[in-house]
Amino acid sequence: MGLKLYNTFTRKVESFQPIDNNKVRLYSCGPTIYDFAHIGNFRAFIFIDLLKRILKFSGYEVNHVMNITDVDDRIIKKCGVENISISELTPQYLDAFYEDMYILGIEPAEYYPLATEHITDMIKLIEKLVGRKHAYITNEGSVFFDITSFVDYGKLSKISADSLKQTDRVSSDEYEKENPTDFALWKAWKPEDGDVGWNSPWGRGRPGWHIECSAMSMKYLGEYFDIHCGGTDLMFPHHENEIAQSVGATGNEFVNIWLHCEHLLVNNTKMSKSLGNYYTLKDLLEKGFAPETLRYFLLTTHYRQKINLTFEHLDAAASSVERLRDFSRRLELLAGESKGKTYAYVEENFLKVMNEDLNISAGLAVIFNWIRGMNRYLDSNSLSSELAGEALILLKRFDMILNVIFEEGIVLNQKDSDLIKEREVARQNKHWTRADEIREYFLKKNITLEDTAKGTVVKRNIKQ
Ligand code: AMP
Ligand code: ZN
Repeated sequence: MGLKLYNTFTRKVESFQPIDNNKVRLYSCGPTIYDFAHIGNFRAFIFIDLLKRILKFSGYEVNHVMNITDVDDRIIKKCGVENISISELTPQYLDAFYEDMYILGIEPAEYYPLATEHITDMIKLIEKLVGRKHAYITNEGSVFFDITSFVDYGKLSKISADSLKQTDRVSSDEYEKENPTDFALWKAWKPEDGDVGWNSPWGRGRPGWHIECSAMSMKYLGEYFDIHCGGTDLMFPHHENEIAQSVGATGNEFVNIWLHCEHLLVNNTKMSKSLGNYYTLKDLLEKGFAPETLRYFLLTTHYRQKINLTFEHLDAAASSVERLRDFSRRLELLAGESKGKTYAYVEENFLKVMNEDLNISAGLAVIFNWIRGMNRYLDSNSLSSELAGEALILLKRFDMILNVIFEEGIVLNQKDSDLIKEREVARQNKHWTRADEIREYFLKKNITLEDTAKGTVVKRNIKQ
């Protein structure tokens, strides 16, 4: 049986089938780089990592785009306070974000488009919306989406039709709003914006936050793509507005499956910057928790359940990782040549439960039950070296998903596998420049290619 996922749009668990053969086009809302991300943000990103790894494990090719919001109200405000420009503020937080993703063993997306590099795409999209009478221009030179022009407005978040009568306008990027309102696509320049602004058919200004995701997702993935992810807080109004903008502009369907992950809580309250109840990754590393512990902790609660962060829970995660590693060490000591598939049924059982909307708790139960049984054989010295070898291969396969046991838990996409092959050929033909270029490309993704007699070994660079 194939993968089933809970589609927020239909509120149903549905069979997943990519639009285009075995290629999955996936978009997720990325960070706003006005500060360091907190560990709650990484819950959302680790959920996407799990989804991607399961898709790849099942043989799909994944093209993942995650936007980087590098212009919005919060960024402009901070630039004002610190009296610096956007380009002086954001790069450090972008670097920190990439580094945290790497430390947490999260596979990079194929593209990380920056909002400020896609202003023209956004302007074009807004022009289409104006042309199709979904948007109107104000006297000051702002452009607003008219939600009453889009009959399906509210379908994702199930906002009642009654409240749609309200047609207030919001221009703020803050999204805790409960009421549906016309929202800004383009915001006319104000003195508080300082030197932030771009020319447009409506005068100088800047895009609203929602339009960037419609413009960049469709630019890189096409008008209709497979999966769109984000935290539940983004469902309304951000994702509702994305649907209105994209469907309004193209007249086509936009997204096949919407997935939303629940929040990370602290003392049963959502972890957030504004409440001040947050930890960054660095905070928790400084408290002595290993990256793998944090990854395991964030990965192993079902994505539609809230997780409460406590140090007891982190200690429990550390013990689980240790149990997995103990088992790997015992196998490594014994493992010999192996060709059989004695434990294929364990992998099948694992995939079967993971296919049920990524049921990670059931998946881990399959793994740990198997380990318990195997440890009994190891205790009584009755595991052959061949079977230990087979078990080690399976454990490595599981780590392609968990990525907390071995160093080399990397699943490559088709493009990267092809590049590795191309580099091997280049090396054979002594085309060193091309070989080095490809090696550099991987280094940027924190992956080292090691040349051995048996071919290229792909290694994730050493964790902290
Ligand atoms: P932001 O940088 O605030 O735009 O958020 C980036 C991503 O992190 C979004 O997908 C949010 O839904 C998600 N997010 C923010 N806070 C939390 C939290 N406490 N738990 C889980 N995800 C969160
Ligand atoms: Zn978005």
